[in-house]
Amino acid sequence: MIYFDNSATTCPSKGCIDAVTGELLLFANPSSVHTAGWEARKRLEANRAVIAKTLSASADQLIFTASATEADNMALIGAANAKKRRGKTVIITDSEHPAVSQSALKLESDGFKVVRIPTKGGALDLSAIESVCSSGDVILSSLMHVNNETGAVYDVKAANTLIKRLCPEALCHCDCVQSYLKYPVSLQGLCADMISISAHKVCGPKGIAALVLKKGVRILPIIHGGGQESTLRSGTENSPGIAGFAAAATEGFENMEKNKAIVLNLKAIIEDSFKENKLISFNRPPVQSPWIISMQVKGFKSEVLLRMLSDKGIFVSAGSACSSKNKKSPILKAFGLSDAEADCTVRISFSHTNTADECREFTRKLNEIIK
Ligand code: PLP
Repeated sequence: MIYFDNSATTCPSKGCIDAVTGELLLFANPSSVHTAGWEARKRLEANRAVIAKTLSASADQLIFTASATEADNMALIGAANAKKRRGKTVIITDSEHPAVSQSALKLESDGFKVVRIPTKGGALDLSAIESVCSSGDVILSSLMHVNNETGAVYDVKAANTLIKRLCPEALCHCDCVQSYLKYPVSLQGLCADMISISAHKVCGPKGIAALVLKKGVRILPIIHGGGQESTLRSGTENSPGIAGFAAAATEGFENMEKNKAIVLNLKAIIEDSFKENKLISFNRPPVQSPWIISMQVKGFKSEVLLRMLSDKGIFVSAGSACSSKNKKSPILKAFGLSDAEADCTVRISFSHTNTADECREFTRKLNEIIK
């Protein structure tokens, strides 16, 4: 099998699996008031500190959630409701993951005004942000760092700096699911108040993610109960997931530069091998994550090509896994592709565990299909 769908999810590392297994066996509830519970709490807090360090944050700034979808929901709905007396306008991009775009729809139905900033060609339209902010009514923004379908890296820091200058009351959220442990990610570095990350995109387990909160920022919980996670996210903590997340985060953080060099080479192998091929073209934003290739294969509907590659043991995706049931990708349309171009676009997404041989095998098999 050649697995090139790492933006959808990654293979958990050995360190992650060991950490999850160890914690599953210890199993006590970290909120229990007995020695086993206190020990579980100690381990959980140590793991929280480990993950926080990879974000240049302190442990108390990390709120664990069950997914980045939940973290995004919490950031948008929790922050908008906390700020609703100050204004009604929320800014997102027109290329957000459904975790953000659907939360924004919910806010619209609750009476907020949502403005979607164009990302045509793969760049944030800063002048559109400036004109929205001139109203002074913006209370919240949610601008993703790296796009999960095109790999576009948006200049979120410039956008957030602009928003903060024109609307100092606004809270800035950033979905860093596709940039965490690939680029340096921190609240300070992105001029953000909230950041979402997800463990299963970085060789950690599924079912664990986090919202990072700037100190002093107040949002409202969207899940109510026993008051865990500083009352912001009730529910017994997923201690095994958190242990696996911490192990994966440590490995990813220590090897960030090395991993980047690996995937840059993989990307170059595939792009170079199709340089002269008239049937293949690449969707290239001005700055693109080396972990993602977005390519058009003319004459082949992506669903059909996906199946043909899958039959040959190669797994890629059309758009994102989360939106692949939808007919057309709104993200590729927002990028500026025609329906026909979007229909023949496939996404290859790497992990540092992929190899040059896998890339050569992929190009050979794709050439067999399209020849
Ligand atoms: N945001 C982005 C940019 C994503 O790519 C994804 C998953 O693909 C998510 C959010 C949702 O993450 P999770 O699977 O942890 O809910």
